[in-house]
Amino acid sequence: MSGVTCTTCPYCGVGCGVLASPQADGRVTIKGDPDHPANFGRLCSKGSALGETLGLEDRLLAPEVGGVRATWDSALDHVARRFLSAIEEHGPDAVAFYVSGQLLTEDYYAANKLMKGFIGSGNIDTNSRLCMASSVAGHKRAFGSDTVPGTYEDLEQADLVVLVGSNLAWCHPVLFQRLAAAKAARPELRVVTIDPRRTATSELADLHLSIAPGSDVALFNGLLVHLAGVHQVDEAFVAAHTNGLVEALAAATGADIRTTARWTGLDPAEVEHFFRLFAATERVVTVYSQGVNQSATGTDKVNAIVNCHLLTGRIGRPGMGPFSVTGQPNAMGGREVGGLANQLAAHMEIGDADHRALVRGFWDAPRIAERPGLKAVELFEAVRDGRIKALWIMATNPVASLPDADGVAAALDACPFVVVSDVVRATDTTRFADVLLPSAAWGEKDGTVTNSERRISRQRAFLPLPGEAKPDWWQMAEVARRMGHAGFDWDGPAAIFREHAALSAYGNDGRRDFDIGAHAEIDDAGYDALAPFQWPQPAGRPARARFFADGRFFTADGRARFVATPWRAPLARTTAKRPFVLNTGRVRDQWHTMTRTGKTARLTSHYAEPFVEVHPDDARTLGLGAADLAWVESDHGRALLRVLITKRQQAGSVFAPIHWTGQQASLSRVDALVAPRVDPVSGQPASKSTPVSVRRF
Ligand code: SF4
Repeated sequence: MSGVTCTTCPYCGVGCGVLASPQADGRVTIKGDPDHPANFGRLCSKGSALGETLGLEDRLLAPEVGGVRATWDSALDHVARRFLSAIEEHGPDAVAFYVSGQLLTEDYYAANKLMKGFIGSGNIDTNSRLCMASSVAGHKRAFGSDTVPGTYEDLEQADLVVLVGSNLAWCHPVLFQRLAAAKAARPELRVVTIDPRRTATSELADLHLSIAPGSDVALFNGLLVHLAGVHQVDEAFVAAHTNGLVEALAAATGADIRTTARWTGLDPAEVEHFFRLFAATERVVTVYSQGVNQSATGTDKVNAIVNCHLLTGRIGRPGMGPFSVTGQPNAMGGREVGGLANQLAAHMEIGDADHRALVRGFWDAPRIAERPGLKAVELFEAVRDGRIKALWIMATNPVASLPDADGVAAALDACPFVVVSDVVRATDTTRFADVLLPSAAWGEKDGTVTNSERRISRQRAFLPLPGEAKPDWWQMAEVARRMGHAGFDWDGPAAIFREHAALSAYGNDGRRDFDIGAHAEIDDAGYDALAPFQWPQPAGRPARARFFADGRFFTADGRARFVATPWRAPLARTTAKRPFVLNTGRVRDQWHTMTRTGKTARLTSHYAEPFVEVHPDDARTLGLGAADLAWVESDHGRALLRVLITKRQQAGSVFAPIHWTGQQASLSRVDALVAPRVDPVSGQPASKSTPVSVRRF
């Protein structure tokens, strides 16, 4: 292959456009795509180093069964046979898929169709559950749909951008660059960061609120009360287009500035400053990410934020709205095809009989699942206690990334049949596989992804498939055919995309948010040339960049819902034995378990080894010096980490990045420490608040 290929970056949810140019000497030159509306030519450190991460040295290049090289035919026959026999003996809920926000939408579509439509179980969940499930649940409660109302432009057009639980500078760097450029051009644009840690993002902020971990609901309840008290209510919008304000205000009663300050650990003057700024600024965007989502009260946090935007009518207009930024490149695409256990497809609900009937008819799938399946954490609990007899894991490494990662390893060890599709041969998870299937990697696979502003872009191949690697959708389709199911005879990702687009429009008529019916008839050449576009793009109706300014929501009565979010102190309390709160996250130059970013010295030199950030006062008490090693220990596991003493960290809290796995640092898997506690509404794990102890090695 040669020439320049327009594709997208495989890392974060900003979804930057990339120009990839394979060279005669085998190298690949990478540049930002100046025409892509997410990045206009910008790339961050990770994206610009993509060309250095394409080596095949660690790749899985052939199927294996029982650790022995096998043909694709024999491996796929074996997988189909074992899944069929588990279903025959124990029923459809005895099997499960655990997939990934790294999958392309077409891969996700195939996996979801097979499990929910034809196996007849809801047991397909994704590592996106760890990333943005609380935003999905919060959106649905407020809007009746999983809709991000705005666009990236809104951050540039706002007069106030509030960043909650988001280290945008490191985790969504190009979006941060856009915000920083807008602020440089228009210094009156105010930025507030709300985060227990001071981060690179807070360096841009006019005000940084170092709130107590987990106290976001208290802060936004206080803001709601304040906005109502100073008459910053859009009375016409609230009266015509919402329900539930009385109950939401009642739940927030008592949250005056002093009380809010006490609950959040902030100075009352800081709280008042933020409240006044928010009240006085019409164009406000509130951006939130994992600090909000990865919490036992994550869904309430999302709704407490959304409540403030509904109250002021600041939603879906230029420069205004709540804005969830997703972690992974295709968490949004997965949501669109039903990658979460409680969804069906095309933003339809598995629990809705009308939606089920519609999808059943479209797929001609009489055995369609009747109820939601197991969410990520409970899915692996079911594996551990023997309810799941056959499990297929695609494009993710749960033994490194799920909470209680040692418990996940024990679960896989006990599971009678584990299939892993991956691009890497040796991960913490592949060692438990009965069958290993080699997948196509970035640069080799072809399909679409959706970024955080609902923009669907093509991810295109510019390299040949190495060895015997195959796309994930193909693997699913082949197993489906071998299990005797019709409807999986696609000849490529374009055919899947057409089907997905047609389903999004089927029986829709504007009643559901997700509709890309304008692309249902796209031919292969059109798919190859498909330019980035934001959904919705329905057939015969206008596309639009934003939702909800017209006051039309997707609830049964068409009105948005205020959600009562009473403040509850965090459940995970520190104790004398576990006196610190562990917060986990990312560093600037690494991505997830480093299978790609770990390959280049340019990126590994930023942080060369796993570490824990400790406040100087705590370090003194613990007798820790700079660069000491320390054991960080929870009730679930322990990790050996390099000590980094910094005032960025709040006293009483410690921070550790998630990237290092058992492959690089066997004693340093941070997710082995994280408790498997989840938000009761979204099922998202609370990865930001595990009580731990710290002691010198
Ligand atoms: Fe890739 Fe995100 Fe960086 Fe863009 S900001 S280049 S999508 S990692």
